[in-house]
Amino acid sequence: MAQTLRNITKRYFVFSNDRLLVPAQADLSLGVNLLADLPIDVFAEYTEQVVSIRAIDKVEHHLVDAQKELLEHPDVRSVSLREIVSTMPREDFQHVAQAWQYAVFLRNHQFCGRCGSRMDRVQWEMAMHCHTCHHRCYPRVSPCIIVAIRSGNKILLAQGARQKEAGFYSTLAGFVESGETLEEAVHREVFEEVGVKVKNVEYFNSQPWPFPHSLMVGYLAEYDEGEIVVDGKEIHKADWFDIDNLPVVPPKFSIAGRLIEETQKRMAQDKI
Ligand SMILES: [Zn+2]
Repeated sequence: MAQTLRNITKRYFVFSNDRLLVPAQADLSLGVNLLADLPIDVFAEYTEQVVSIRAIDKVEHHLVDAQKELLEHPDVRSVSLREIVSTMPREDFQHVAQAWQYAVFLRNHQFCGRCGSRMDRVQWEMAMHCHTCHHRCYPRVSPCIIVAIRSGNKILLAQGARQKEAGFYSTLAGFVESGETLEEAVHREVFEEVGVKVKNVEYFNSQPWPFPHSLMVGYLAEYDEGEIVVDGKEIHKADWFDIDNLPVVPPKFSIAGRLIEETQKRMAQDKI
């Protein structure tokens, strides 16, 4: 039974040992609405710690973070964020990402970073406030550029330690530094990681990526000049791949997968 009161749907995002609890038989492809069917007795001990995180159009989102506690219930199972990103519709995953980022934020801001006093949650916005020195903190979002580089019918793909372990090649990505524009970050990261210069940098799309609090900002770019020289730290291998003969690449639910798909489309258009 969905937990509805006066036509309000309440969805509970319950994290236990860093995994989301869902009804045992839930089909994740149906999205976050399945969380309205979560049995509330599974988090009975945490009712005083329920945090309201969103209320739009008669749908309320509530967060319960049991941290390392294992909450168990015969009608419930737990799933990892990575499983959710690959199975739920994108907009639904973003709700889970938001809840998870709030959970991480609340864990990391129990005490004031300026004076060390205990912080309190602000009721009317997602923030933690120190009543001793009035320092206020908001959930951190770390912008990270990700870029697909094309040259003729080839795309530059690279492999760092994590991609090597997972057995695929991906587009280049890196965190934006303080004082830098997103476009400057694209040029700097590409040159630092693989030693080439790019031109015609064009915004594509963005994706929240809660591992733990990135915002991936996607760009398409064209090769300008230079030979590939990998930095040997973040990138171990990089090469130009024929668009019709790609290695294993990220799936299309990720922005990297969509950047590669868009590059493929544009090359096909150029051929016509
Ligand atoms: Zn303080």
